[in-house]
Amino acid sequence: VLENTGNEIFNFVSEFLAGNAKNIVIVPHENPDGDAVGSSIGLAEILKNSGQNVCIISPNDYPDFLKWFSSEIEILVFEREKKRAKEYLEKADLLICVDFNDAKRAAKMEKEILGFSNLKLLIDHHPYPVNFCDYTVSEPKYSSTAELIFDFVGKIGFEKYLNHNSAEALYTGILTDTGSFSHNTARPNMFRVVSELMKFGINTDKIQSNIYHNFSSDRMKLLGYCLNEKMEVFPEFRSAVISITKAELEEFNFKPGDTEGFVNYPLSINNVVFSALFIEKEGFVKASFRSKGSFPANEFSGSHFNGGGHLNAAGGESKEDFDKTIELFKQLLSKYKHQLLETKI
Ligand code: 5GP
Ligand code: MN
Repeated sequence: VLENTGNEIFNFVSEFLAGNAKNIVIVPHENPDGDAVGSSIGLAEILKNSGQNVCIISPNDYPDFLKWFSSEIEILVFEREKKRAKEYLEKADLLICVDFNDAKRAAKMEKEILGFSNLKLLIDHHPYPVNFCDYTVSEPKYSSTAELIFDFVGKIGFEKYLNHNSAEALYTGILTDTGSFSHNTARPNMFRVVSELMKFGINTDKIQSNIYHNFSSDRMKLLGYCLNEKMEVFPEFRSAVISITKAELEEFNFKPGDTEGFVNYPLSINNVVFSALFIEKEGFVKASFRSKGSFPANEFSGSHFNGGGHLNAAGGESKEDFDKTIELFKQLLSKYKHQLLETKI
């Protein structure tokens, strides 16, 4: 099922890991989501179990709804603990980047990744990977990096090191990147991997609760406000947009992760195939895009918002002021009208 990855990579990695224990650092992308964190922990648990020394370094902090894993492996936050993080990087034999396709996506760690002088391996499922590692495992057909890691560890003969904690983390990556098995579910392999992971006795109901039934009341009220007051629907373009200012976020005691998932809601509207979310940040506007069917959210974001991602889930940013950014987006909808109306789901 790993169709882009030649056997030489599996052979090389298994031989590399076969000698003395190596020092390995795993890095997810900035603002890591469930797949980035789940993949990092899952892979770290497996490697640790096999006798390697492993450390996870995240460029910045990750949201509270991902802080419940059974795994006791520490996730070092680079922007908070630069000195310790750099010490780990200096003695590392191997750096594994997970769930991103460009060193830029590691933001404050970009320099460390590009300057790392020992072996670099990328394991990712985003299309169009940049060639910044010695070895690249890039499989865009996979639902999630977590699903890919399961197959990758099988290919290097490490499936025997899977345990409850790694299974729980990898399951979480698949769960969150498919929106609870609601998109990217076309390949039977994803469900095969899920059923393999479930054999480790993970509590899937509890994981669902931890992730999706764990919000603050402020976050729920912010969601209600966004849908009620801040969502504009354009049936003539089969599109919708939600935009939130910094002041509005503050009104609802915003915490990182609170707007996670908001961009998906408009896609539940009959006949909407493209949804955008704009959030005012310090000095820029963060953009998120979701689409259904053939409309390429990643190309749209790449062309106009300096971003990228998957066909149906992408992100980017704008340096224009907030109102101008929303105006630009609305103008773009007219430009994409034909493509939006033609979109097959
Ligand atoms: P989200 O909307 O959840 O921030 O991101 C959706 C998808 O787009 C994720 O797969 C993420 O990796 C990707 N993505 C988000 N922001 C950016 C960005 O600024 N640049 C690129 N290239 N991809 C992004
Ligand atoms: Mn992912």
